Amino acid sequence: MSARIHELRKLLHQEQADAWLSFAAADNQYLSGVRAGAIDFLEQSSIVIVTEDAALYLCDSRYTEQAKAQAMDVSVEQIRGALPANAARRLNELGVRRVVLDPRQVSVADAEALREQLEAEVVLRAGFIAPLRWRKSPEEVETIRRASLLAEDVLDELLLTLGEGDPEQELAARFEYEFKRRGASGASFDTIALFGARSSLPHGEPSDRTLDQGDVVLLDLGCRLDGYCSDLTRTYAFGTMPGTWFTEIYDVTRAAQEAALAAIRPGVACCEVDAIARDRIADAGFGDRFGHGLGHGVGIEVHEAPRLNAESRTVLEVGMVITVEPGIYLPGQGGVRIEDLVVVTEQGCEVLTTAPKDLRVL
Ligand code: ZN
Ligand code: ZN
Repeated sequence: MSARIHELRKLLHQEQADAWLSFAAADNQYLSGVRAGAIDFLEQSSIVIVTEDAALYLCDSRYTEQAKAQAMDVSVEQIRGALPANAARRLNELGVRRVVLDPRQVSVADAEALREQLEAEVVLRAGFIAPLRWRKSPEEVETIRRASLLAEDVLDELLLTLGEGDPEQELAARFEYEFKRRGASGASFDTIALFGARSSLPHGEPSDRTLDQGDVVLLDLGCRLDGYCSDLTRTYAFGTMPGTWFTEIYDVTRAAQEAALAAIRPGVACCEVDAIARDRIADAGFGDRFGHGLGHGVGIEVHEAPRLNAESRTVLEVGMVITVEPGIYLPGQGGVRIEDLVVVTEQGCEVLTTAPKDLRVL
């Protein structure tokens, strides 16, 4: 962690600021080593303050013992009451004059409370430590790889037991049970299991729809292991092929996905990689059936920087872990998405996902 705090201090110097303040579970985990639980990502429960001389992790009594056990290079302090008031008090005590805060981490109400009590000037910088977080260390990449392999083991096993009449909701629940049973802290997002025409919903919620012969099966899943996430999508047919339309969109999606993978290397802008997949899909006549971005960074959060979409000017760097997940969705008929997790290397990228991509009838 000390290297991370050192890098953060360099960013603060560039900003001519003397402190960093964070309420976000993911940034706080990155800087302190104290792992955030699933709830902490929804409900803020910690503060990290970094100045030239101090690195503090503030939490209430529910978390103190765990924080002290996991904290690296930060001092844990127990607090009571509202987070903004505690942050203001501590920053005032430290004599901070100019503090950087990521505006995406605070509600308007908390920002107001902070300004009322804080003596320092607040400098708002969105995504301030994203460039630190998106360069994964070899250890972080290995943790993500283990999370990915754990999820794939569950996928392999559950595909063998999948049967006609199984509801989407039950399959999704089985994934989440198996993730936890095998040592993950849980799913990294709500598992997506969609059958038949429902597979055209890019982020559909599993329902009581049951599996039939000739259905598309779209599964998007990942787990959180040792504080890091994985993410994977595969699309299959069940029993018999749904039709030539399915084979066609499967082949186009796969070709687009592989063309994008081949284009990944340091120095290429995220929007360029997105365009390679998008152009392939558009050339095949499905341009208006691929509405979402090509991918996203994965790490402590399942969706983090960088984003791979038409607007993203971020340039790929060695150590970034990103997904590549084009899709084609035909409303009322069905959809295909193929998603791999990759790490950017000196030469190009290494695909962490090992699940086959040949069109498979379950
Ligand atoms: Zn996914
Ligand atoms: Zn994804």
